[in-house]
Amino acid sequence: MRYSLVVLIASATLAAMFAAGATLSLRRNEDNLADRLQEKAVRLQSIYEVSTAELEHEARALAYSMATDAEIGHILGEAGRDQRASKDSNSPRARELRMALGNRLSLLWQEMQAQFDLRQLQLLLTPDLTSFLRLHAPEDYGDSLMDVRPMLRSIQADRVPRGGFEIGRAFAGIRGGAAVLHPVTAGLTIHTRGMEAGREIEHVGTLEVGIGLDGLIARLSRTFNVSIAVLLDTERVTQAMWTRYQPGSLDASPSACCIVLSSTGTEAGEWLNRSLIDRGTEALQSRLMPWNGKTLQLIRFPFRDYLGTQDPSVPRAGTILIWRDASADLAAHQEARVLTIRNALLAYAVVQLIVLGALRITRREWQRQLDEQTATTERLARQNSLLLNTAGEGIYGVDADGRATFINPSALEMLKFSEQDILGRNQHELFHHHYEDGSPYPASSCPVFETLQDGRRRRAEDRFIRADGTEFPVSMTVTPIEENACRKGAVVVFRDITELTEKRQQLLRLATTDPLTGTSNRRHFLDVMETELARLKRRGGVASLLMTDLDHFKRINDLHGHAAGDEVLKHFVAIVRETLRKTDVVGRIGGEEFAILLPGEDKEGARELAERLRESLENSPSIVGEKSIPCTVSIGIAALRANDTSADAVLQRADEALYTAKRTGRNRAVVGA
Ligand code: GH3
Ligand code: MG
Ligand code: MG
Repeated sequence: MRYSLVVLIASATLAAMFAAGATLSLRRNEDNLADRLQEKAVRLQSIYEVSTAELEHEARALAYSMATDAEIGHILGEAGRDQRASKDSNSPRARELRMALGNRLSLLWQEMQAQFDLRQLQLLLTPDLTSFLRLHAPEDYGDSLMDVRPMLRSIQADRVPRGGFEIGRAFAGIRGGAAVLHPVTAGLTIHTRGMEAGREIEHVGTLEVGIGLDGLIARLSRTFNVSIAVLLDTERVTQAMWTRYQPGSLDASPSACCIVLSSTGTEAGEWLNRSLIDRGTEALQSRLMPWNGKTLQLIRFPFRDYLGTQDPSVPRAGTILIWRDASADLAAHQEARVLTIRNALLAYAVVQLIVLGALRITRREWQRQLDEQTATTERLARQNSLLLNTAGEGIYGVDADGRATFINPSALEMLKFSEQDILGRNQHELFHHHYEDGSPYPASSCPVFETLQDGRRRRAEDRFIRADGTEFPVSMTVTPIEENACRKGAVVVFRDITELTEKRQQLLRLATTDPLTGTSNRRHFLDVMETELARLKRRGGVASLLMTDLDHFKRINDLHGHAAGDEVLKHFVAIVRETLRKTDVVGRIGGEEFAILLPGEDKEGARELAERLRESLENSPSIVGEKSIPCTVSIGIAALRANDTSADAVLQRADEALYTAKRTGRNRAVVGA
C-alpha cells in the first residue's frame, strides 16, 4: 500500500473518530442545557406552590382570628335574627347592625389591607350564606353565595376554617374563611348549634378574607428575578365572575384560551393577544422562546382552585406562567459548545500530529528494513552469480517445461554453445537427444524430465552432445525448484567425467586382462564363459572352447631366455587374434596356456579353426632380435553344453582333449568328448 494512502486512511479514521466524539459531547451539552432548564422549571414551580400554600394558610389564620372576636359574633347573631324576622336585608335594624360591624372592623380592615395585601373582607349569614357586609364594597349585600362559593359551603357545613384559591363574583384570589360562633341567647330560635365548654353556641355566620395574588407574584418576581403571570382559563371565569370584575384581557381577545388575572410583566397579555400561548397541558412545561432579541425560558404549570383540590374531576382553574431571561444559560451553553469543538479540534490536531509522526517513523523503519533486505538480496545475487560464474561445474536451470532459464560459463564452455543458443530452448532437444549408439533418447527418460515430473532430486551419469556433435560423459545432479509447494523447474549441476571414465576403463582393463599379452585374464575369461553358458541355456545354440598349450616351452625359455619366451607368447597371441573372429574371446589360463571361446561354433567349426591356428603358428616362427624361434601348439577342443553346470566342466573336457593331443605327439588339435 502506498504511504500517502496509509496517511489518508489514518487521517480520515481519526477525523471520523473525533467528529463522532465531538458530536457526542455536543449532544451531552444539549442534554445538560435541557436538564438545567427543566431543573429551574421544577424549582420555580415548587417555590410558587409553597408560597401560595403559605398564603392560603395566612388567609385562613386571619379569618379565624377575626371570626373569634366575641363582638363580631354578637352583632352577626343579631343580624341573623333580624334577617329571619324581617326578611329584609336592608331593614333599619340591619342597617344599624351593618354600621356597627363596619365600625368594629374598619380600623382592622385598613391595617390589614396595607399589611397583608388584603383585598376583601366579608361577613355572611347562616344558613344561606347571605352576604351581610362587604368591607371592600359596602353597598353590595343581601346576595347569597351558596351557589358560587364551594369553600364557604364547606365551612358552613363543618365550621372548620379553610383557605384556598377561588374565583368569586367580584374577585379571584386566595381566600380564607372561618365560622363565626356565638353563645346561644335563651328564647331565640337556633339554627345551628353545638356544645362548647359546657355552653351551647350558635353558628351565626362566616367571615371571609381575600388576598390578591399581585403581592405574592411581585415578591417572587423580585426575589427570583423572573416574571410571573397568573392566567385563568376562560370558561372558569365566565362561569363564576361578574362581568364587571373580569380582567380586561378577556374583552381584548375573547377567543384567547385564558385571561390574565395578575402579571408582573406586560408580555403575558401580549402573547395571549397574539395567540403565542396555547392552553398548555396538565404537566409542567418548559420551552425557550425568542422575544425582543432575547431568549426567554417559558415555564407553565396548571393550578387548581379550592374545589379542584377537593375533586380531581373539576377542571383546573388556570395556568401559572413564569418566564425568565435564559440568555445567560444559552451563552454558557454556547461557550461550552465552542469549548467542546475547540478542544476536539485541538485534540484531533495533536493526535493527528502524533499519528503522522509515528507513521513517519514507521515508514523510515520500513525503508531501513527494505534497504537492508535489498542489500542482502543484492549481496546474495552477487554471491550467486559469482558462484555460478566461477564454479567448475556446469550449472543451468530449467523451467517446468524443461526450457533453460540460466546457464553458467562453465556449462557453455563444456557444451560449446553460446548463452543465446541455450536460453529459452529445451535442453533435452538441444544437447541430450541421442544415446551413444545413435538411437533417439526419449524425453520421458531424461533425468531432468523425471525430476520435473516427480519432484525428486536425482543423480545420474549420462552423455551430453556438444554443439559440434561430439559427445562427452557427464555426472549430473538434478534438483527440483519448488516455491510455495509449486514446482517451478529444476537446477542441473554437471561435470565432464571423460577422464574418470577413461580411468575406470583402464582399471577395468587391468582387472580383466593379462598384462603381458593383453588377453583376458583367467578370472575374466571364466566370467565370459559363465555368461556364454547362461546365454546358451536361455537361448540355445552352440559354442566351443579351444584349450591351447605351447609345446616344449620350457625348452624355448631355456634356449633363448625368459624374455624371448615372453615374445613367443605375444607372437602366439597375435596369430590367435589374426585367425579368430571379432566375437571370439581369448583368455590366458596359465603360464603358456590360453583358452579360446568360439560362440556359434560347433566342434567341427572349432576343429577347423584350431587347425588353422596350429598351422599358422607352425608356419610362422617368432622373430626375436635376429633369431627365429619356431614353436608349435597343441589344442584340445570341447563343445559347451546347455547342461554344463559351470565353466570349469567345459575347461576340464577341453583339458582332457589337450592332454590327448600332447600324448599323441603334440602339434595337433584333438576334439574331446
Ligand atoms: P610340454 O610340451 O609338455 O607342454 O612341455 P613344456 O616344456 O611346455 O612343459 P610345461 O608346459 O609344463 O612348461 C611350461 C613352462 O612355461 C614352464 C615355465 O618355465 C614356462 N613359462 C610359464 N610362464 C612363462 C612366462 O610367462 N614366460 C616365459 N618365458 N616362460 C613361462
Ligand atoms: Mg604348459
Ligand atoms: Mg607347454
